Amino acid sequence: MTYQHRDLAGGPLNLPVGKVVCVGRNYLEHIRELNNAVPEAPILFMKPATALVGLDQPIQLPQGRGECQHEIELAVLIGRELRQADAATARQVVAGYGVALDLTLRDLQNELKKKGHPWEIAKAFDGSCPLSPVLPPEALPDPQNSELALRVNGALRQQGNTRMMRVGIFELMAYISTHFTLRPGDVVLTGTPAGVGPLRSGDVLVLSLAGHDFTARVV
Ligand code: ZN
Repeated sequence: MTYQHRDLAGGPLNLPVGKVVCVGRNYLEHIRELNNAVPEAPILFMKPATALVGLDQPIQLPQGRGECQHEIELAVLIGRELRQADAATARQVVAGYGVALDLTLRDLQNELKKKGHPWEIAKAFDGSCPLSPVLPPEALPDPQNSELALRVNGALRQQGNTRMMRVGIFELMAYISTHFTLRPGDVVLTGTPAGVGPLRSGDVLVLSLAGHDFTARVV
C-alpha cells in the first residue's frame, strides 16, 4: 500500500512524501546503553521515502539479517521548505508531530560500524520507518516537553521525555537545514531514548506520544 501522510482522523494531508532525516545519539541514556561516544555535533543519516509506512500497517521485519530493533522517536513533519535556517524559523515550518519507529538492523549496523562503513542497509531499508498519523502542531503546545513511551506486549520498553534531547527539535532542524534542504513532506526523526531492543514476529506495540496511543503489530 502506498504511504501517504495522514491526520488523526485518517484523512490524507496535502503534502508529498519525502525523505526522512534522522539523528543518532540524541539522548544520553541511549548513548550509554550502546557504549557509544557522545558526539560533538549531531550525527545525521537519512532514510528514503520508501522507508515510510503507516504505523497501522503490519510491520515486516527483514529476514535473515540479524536482530531488528525498535527505536521510538518523536517525528516532525515539514510543511514548508527550510534551508540555512535558524531555530525560530524552523519552528514555523512544522506541519505536525507524530511518533515513529526508526527500525534498525542492529547486528548489521554493528558490523558496518566496526568496518567504518555507512549504515544505510541497516537503517534505510523498505518499511524501516513506520509513522503514526500526524498531530497538528497545537496538539503539542510544548513539543520540547512531551512524553514518549513504547510498550511491547504490555511491557514498558522505552520511556523518555523530549526535554532529555541533547539537541532540541528546532535547533536540530536548523542544523539539518545547513546540510540538506528540508522540503514539504519530509520528516525529521529526533533520536531515541534508552531501552532499544529486538522485535519479534507477533509482537504488539503501543507507541505513546503526549497522551495519544498508537498500536502496531509485527507480522
Ligand atoms: Zn534512531
